[in-house]
Amino acid sequence: MSPTDRRGETPLLSVSGLNKSFGANEVLRSIDLRVEPGQVLALIGPSGSGKTTVLRCLNGLEQPDAGTVAFSGGPEVTFGPKTTRREKESLRSRSAMVFQGYNLFPHKTVLQNVTEGPIQVQKRPRAEAVADAERLLMRVGLAEKRDDYPHQLSGGQQQRVGIVRALAQQPSLLLFDEPTSALDPELVGDVLTVIKELAEEGWTMVLVTHELAFAREVADTVVFMDGGVVVEQGRAEDVLRAPREDRTQQFVHRLL
Ligand code: ADP
Repeated sequence: MSPTDRRGETPLLSVSGLNKSFGANEVLRSIDLRVEPGQVLALIGPSGSGKTTVLRCLNGLEQPDAGTVAFSGGPEVTFGPKTTRREKESLRSRSAMVFQGYNLFPHKTVLQNVTEGPIQVQKRPRAEAVADAERLLMRVGLAEKRDDYPHQLSGGQQQRVGIVRALAQQPSLLLFDEPTSALDPELVGDVLTVIKELAEEGWTMVLVTHELAFAREVADTVVFMDGGVVVEQGRAEDVLRAPREDRTQQFVHRLL
């Protein structure tokens, strides 16, 4: 189904009027986003434009100053001084993040890294969490690495563990923050293949990436940010092949 066909559906995620400042630095200004179920949204833009901060706000790692965030089937959370802890937590469990630098616990094994969230935070039975982790590790070709420590793995393997850790949390939405930018070029392909397979399986994702060719391949929607605002958004092929705004044109033509 193309994104246009999905317009009538309830979005899996809607974000409206999101603002965030760090001191006097207004990093996000009135960000609106909508992600339909099963859709991949690629967030592109120059360094410092606020892309990572958007993901961190969605995942509860930063608190927006204002704006609303709602996942389908959950409450609409309005951010401001009165936002309750409970409201923030209701959002946190809906998404899981794959970080640029993998962010694995160095002193835990692969299996412990993957099962930590399900067991400690979600309070799922250990046996069930371990069985799930083993199944997911097998699927990314890392079943034999379950008892290794992160430093024994290549960057590409560590990032595949990062992806498995996110999947093990059973989120509605996967957030990827430049998942391949710390990798040696020869290791990028394996990680992109896993992300592409997840997209084809119907996972809903927001992906921050500089790999525009990859964005064109997997994304339904592309959002171009610059200076903390959304400059342009639309169908991936339109924004990447025929951007309307000058700033988008300059950025896309430099990278594609
Ligand atoms: P991008 O992902 O597009 O490179 P970021 O969201 O990382 O952009 O950063 C946007 C702006 O917010 C930058 O000016 C950055 O310096 C600032 N910023 C991000 N995180 C923090 C923080 N924790 N404290 C202060 N400033 C921050």
